[in-house]
Amino acid sequence: MTRPLASKTMRLKFYRPTWAEIDLDALEYNFGQVRKLVGQKVKIMVTVKADAYGHGIVPVSRALAIKGVDYLGVASIDEGITLRKARINLPILILGTVLPNDVEPILKYNLTQTVCTEELAYALDKEAGRRKQNAAIHIKVDTGMGRLGVSYDKAKNFIQKIKSLRHLDLEGIFTHFPLADTDINFTHNQIKAFNKLILDLEREGIKFRLQHAANSMGLIGFPQSHFNMVRPGLVVYGIYPKKNLDIKLKPVLSLKTKVVFLNRFPQGKGISYGHIYTTKKDTTVVNLPIGYGDGYPRNLSNIGPVLIRGKRFVVSGRICMDQTLVDVGNLKVRLADEVVLIGRQGREKILAEELARLSGTIPYEIVCGIGSRVPRIYLGKLSNKIEGETEVYNIGCPGRKSRHK
Ligand SMILES: *Cc1c(COP(=O)(O)O)cnc(C)c1O
Repeated sequence: MTRPLASKTMRLKFYRPTWAEIDLDALEYNFGQVRKLVGQKVKIMVTVKADAYGHGIVPVSRALAIKGVDYLGVASIDEGITLRKARINLPILILGTVLPNDVEPILKYNLTQTVCTEELAYALDKEAGRRKQNAAIHIKVDTGMGRLGVSYDKAKNFIQKIKSLRHLDLEGIFTHFPLADTDINFTHNQIKAFNKLILDLEREGIKFRLQHAANSMGLIGFPQSHFNMVRPGLVVYGIYPKKNLDIKLKPVLSLKTKVVFLNRFPQGKGISYGHIYTTKKDTTVVNLPIGYGDGYPRNLSNIGPVLIRGKRFVVSGRICMDQTLVDVGNLKVRLADEVVLIGRQGREKILAEELARLSGTIPYEIVCGIGSRVPRIYLGKLSNKIEGETEVYNIGCPGRKSRHK
């Protein structure tokens, strides 16, 4: 019978041999690379939204807390609560907005909220007052992203209006780049505009303790965009936002499976749905227990690379919900041979960037898409330190006033 794969560190047990390995040494390395790039004076918020880009929000956040991350960025209240329940006491910014009726848990869990409307500012102020707390907020300014934020022209007025609210702590101000990878001028103008706003406000006595703009691409491509905090996600997971960048990263996530069934087929045999692949000669076809139900993109059918016995092969036929086939020719394969879909095997490697290119998407979507059906196994020096039942992961942001308990 198949032995359950068990990770010592996470005490995982599972019987379908498809899993993701998260290399915390690589995570630590990449975080160190960011630290090197921005220096000691600039704070680092790592964005851990969407389950830390599929890497596991709690283990990744705990590992980063141990390594001295200053702030965590999430997309929703719920993600913030998940971190608090895992005893992560670092400051946490909700990068998205929320409905004014939903502010209670923001105060209860001491989360920092992005604000770009008066309604939300008033709702937070009121709830904070009721609880005799302060609500820490960061103002989001739209300098060109056209997504979320108070528009640049209205920002000063808006801030002057809400700064009198007694239970709000206007801790931060930030903006976001839509074209950091494609348009240097546009991005420079955004940086200039954001700078000007900060200086204008300072002249009027309004100073934000945290000012930030740079995502991964901003951080690498635009040193002037660092302000006093940066907000990388992608690079911390070891993925490049663009080719030929001057930073060395190590991929954190590997996606692996095992051969669970083999067929020996004659030439001319159509395989899987639609028979879009036909064997060209007598051949061996292996069956892998992974599919689009795990987030392995269906449009990698007939083109997705896989590594078996240290060699590159290509997915053969349609990728199904739970199964994928690979024609391996006359290669001597055995049941339970390990197969790599993302990561290294021998001298070969497959990067999330390559799968993204082949499937017509971005690497973010590849790693975020890996489903909850795929267990994550944590490797590396930190893997023993992130699973405590009682530890409190609490480094804290030096820029933050202690009156926010
Ligand atoms: C996700 C996100 C980031 C991180 O972006 P990367 O490209 O992954 O570095 C930064 N800022 C905001 C507002 C985000 O939503």
